Order: sequence, then structure tokens, then C-alpha cells
Amino acid sequence: MSALASSYIIVGAGVFGASTALYLSRQKPAPTIILIDRTPYPSPSAASHDINKIVRSDYGDIFYCKLGLKAIERWRTDPLFEMWFHQSGLLKATDHSTDLVDKIFENYKKLGSNVKAELFGPEELKTRFNGIYADADMSNVEHLLWNPSSGWAEATTALKYTLDAVVENGVHYVAASVANLILKDGACTGIRTEDGRTFTAKKIILSTGAYTAKLIADSAPDQPGLQVGNRITACGVCEAAVNLSPEQVEKFKNVPAFVLDANKTQGETMPPTPKNQLKFIRDMPFKHTVEHPASGQRISVPFTTPERSQWTSPDKMPSGIREEIDTVMRGIYGKEVEGLKPDDMRFCWDGVTPDNNWFITPHPRCQNLYIATAGSFHGWKFLPIIGEYVVKMLKGELPDEERRRWEWDRDLEGAINPVLPEREVGDLKV
Ligand SMILES: Cc1cc2nc3c(=O)[nH]c(=O)nc-3n(C[C@H](O)[C@H](O)[C@H](O)COP(=O)(O)OP(=O)(O)OC[C@H]3O[C@@H](n4cnc5c(N)ncnc54)[C@H](O)[C@@H]3O)c2cc1C
Repeated sequence: MSALASSYIIVGAGVFGASTALYLSRQKPAPTIILIDRTPYPSPSAASHDINKIVRSDYGDIFYCKLGLKAIERWRTDPLFEMWFHQSGLLKATDHSTDLVDKIFENYKKLGSNVKAELFGPEELKTRFNGIYADADMSNVEHLLWNPSSGWAEATTALKYTLDAVVENGVHYVAASVANLILKDGACTGIRTEDGRTFTAKKIILSTGAYTAKLIADSAPDQPGLQVGNRITACGVCEAAVNLSPEQVEKFKNVPAFVLDANKTQGETMPPTPKNQLKFIRDMPFKHTVEHPASGQRISVPFTTPERSQWTSPDKMPSGIREEIDTVMRGIYGKEVEGLKPDDMRFCWDGVTPDNNWFITPHPRCQNLYIATAGSFHGWKFLPIIGEYVVKMLKGELPDEERRRWEWDRDLEGAINPVLPEREVGDLKV
């Protein structure tokens, strides 16, 4: 089929691919760029495609705290992004055995930032925010972090708007599934789609999220040095959306985003969206490990069926996960959610790394192949800025710290990411 010569092919139009395409398309002179994903954009099974996502700078790791502050500044001021950002503030609590909220608080002090973060105890929570959390499960919580500057964004809408801008800048968007990379003599020269077309380019960038390990294994099953290995694990998290009546919206409309990673709750929520949806997430992921016979590996791969990767009816979900979502809803809102039930649920898949850092890197054992993905459950908020770093990486201009954190062969021995799961989707009660 057609062999279209271009400068760049980006596989995957989630936030990493979209932001990369945006920054590349602003280069002068503009290069030829092909952005390819399975469906017309935005692809409904991308982690980046969602009702909403939290936008915060509240990180214990000061590196991402600074990056988060930079991203929020863009969310507030850039005409491409500002209308999708809602500065609701963010509450965060973890079990008292971790000192995460104290670290976050200290980071703002160290940075001398003008973020007006506070720490307060569970008793005070009962009387703040119009008492809506009076019933929240605060067992094991010593204090909470409140940051009025963080918030959330309308995820799918912001992603689509960005991709509209990308296409307007001249990027060629192709809706097709990539079957494999074209590899020859230690280099990647292009991709082949499942419908038999080939596309060639000088540089191929994989922004394929949770699907990265499988795509590389399918492309080079007999080349162990190319494989993802333990660098990126496909992990699925369950989300639920409740459609609120106008009266119910009144009750929740002024709540902040709330991450309650404590006790048995282990979940999060955000304020109602413009479509009156209240979303809950269970912060306890799953793997889906399968044999990959051609490469002889066991790999966690996301499901691609709509029932296990896109919004669907709750009765199509395992009953075990419905119980877990119920625990999140009651843990955060107690009796305030009595009578509310999810109208839609979803497994959402992301690529997770052992050290929580992404990959923005050349592949050291394959010329012209680059990786920019693995958001590790926290990549979405960086949509307005991530492409800037990918372009720097492509030019060999990443500052030292970024390069070391995001490179392919960094030392992952002993890295502990508490969100990397042991449990498998198949362990769930059906
Ligand atoms: C439930 C959940 C909640 C989250 N909440 C937050 C949050 O509140 N805030 C935050 O900052 N981050 C959050 N994250 C993390 C964030 O969503 C991800 O880190 C980020 O969206 C990943 O972007 P990506 O571009 O790497 O991958 P994706 O968005 O998954 O995009 C990858 C794309 O590649 C395409 N693709 C893959 N393989 C192929 C192929 N062979 N052919 C064609 N196309 C292909 C896929 O179709 C997909 O569209 C959350 C993640 C999850 C799962």
C-alpha cells in the first residue's frame, strides 16, 4: 500500500502523543508529522479519554511538584487549555503510616511558591466544605492537605480540542491500528497498519501507553534487547460515573477534588462535570498478564474490548469491582451518597513504571525509535507542557535531570511504586 515519506510518525493520540504533535507542529519550518491511533480522535480506550482528570502540583517528589506548578500555570493562562480547567481546590489524605502530605506541604515551603496549602485534622474536615465530609471515613488519617490552587479538567474535551489544533497545524491524522513497527538493520523505518498500509518516517515515536510492551513484542519477538521488560506494566483501574439530578448537583457543586488514599476507601472523586456526572475512582489497580508465545514473555496487556476498556453499563462489570466502587463512594461521602449508584463504569488502562517516572527517551538499541509515554497514573495533567520535553529529547537537549529520570536504561533495581499491583483482573469476583 501507500508508503508516505514523512519526518515523524507518532503512534498514539493520548496526552503524550497529542502534546508531542502540538509542539512538533509549531517548529519552523514545520516538519511532516503523521499521528496515528486506532479510531477517529480521541480514541475512547485511551487513558487520556475520560470524563475528567485531576490537575494538581501536589507531589511528594519535588521534581513533579515543580512540573505540576508549570502545567497549572498553562492550564490557567493558555487559550488552548484554560476553558477546560476548573480550580476547585484539592484535598488529599493518606494513611498516617506515610508522610506524603507533610512532604507535599514542605515542598511548597522549599519552593517559596505562592500556593496557599494548609494541613488540618479530620475533626476540622467535618465542619469545612459545608459539612459534606462529616461522615467521611477518616480512620488512619492524621491530617489532610488542602490546596486551593489545584483542580480538575474536562479530559476528553481538552484532548479533542488539542487534537483539533494539531490537525489545523498540518498534522496528518490517520485512524488505524498499528500491527507492527518496521525494523531493519537495527533501525525503525516506519509502521505497518493492520489494514496492510505502511508509513515511513525518519523518526518513530511510541506514545502507546499501556499497549507499548505488546506492540514492541509483536514487532520484534526475537529481539530480547528491544523488549519493554519490567519498565512499563499495563495496569487497569476502575472508574464509575453517577448521573446527578439538578437537585443532587446543588449538593455537590462546590466540593473540591478529593484523593482519599487511606483506610479501606483508597479512592478519589472530583466535582460534578458540566454534564452533571460525579466520577469516582478506585485507586487499586489490576494487571492482566498473558503469555506472548512469539517472544516467550509473560506481559500485562490491556483489554481492547469496549466492556473492559471503555465506559459501559455496571451490569457488564465484575460484581467485585462494583463493591469496591461502593466502598470509595461511602468512604468519601458517607450518607451523602445514599441512594446514588453508578450509571456507567469503566476499566481505564495506563502504562506504569516501577519508579513513577515516565519514559521520554530514544530507544538505545533501535535507531530512530523513541518512546514518550508511561504516565503511571499521573501523566494527564501535563498535556499543556509534555510535548515541550519530548521535542527537547528528540533534539538531544533534555536537561540532565529530566534525561536521567526518563531514560530507557535507568536503574530500576529496588524501585518501589506502591501502585504497581500484584492482583490480576481475573482475581475479581464475577
Ligand atoms: C483511571 C485513571 C485515572 C487517572 N487520573 C489521572 C488524573 O486525575 N490526573 C492525571 O494527571 N493523570 C491521571 N491518570 C494518568 C493519565 O490518564 C495517563 O498517564 C495518561 O493519560 C497516559 O497518556 P498516554 O498518551 O501515555 O496514553 P493513552 O492516553 O492511553 O494513549 C495511548 C494511545 O495509543 C493508542 N495505541 C496504542 N497502541 C496502538 C496501536 N497498536 N495502534 C494504534 N494506536 C495505538 C491507544 O489507542 C491510545 O489512544 C489516570 C489514569 C487512569 C487509568
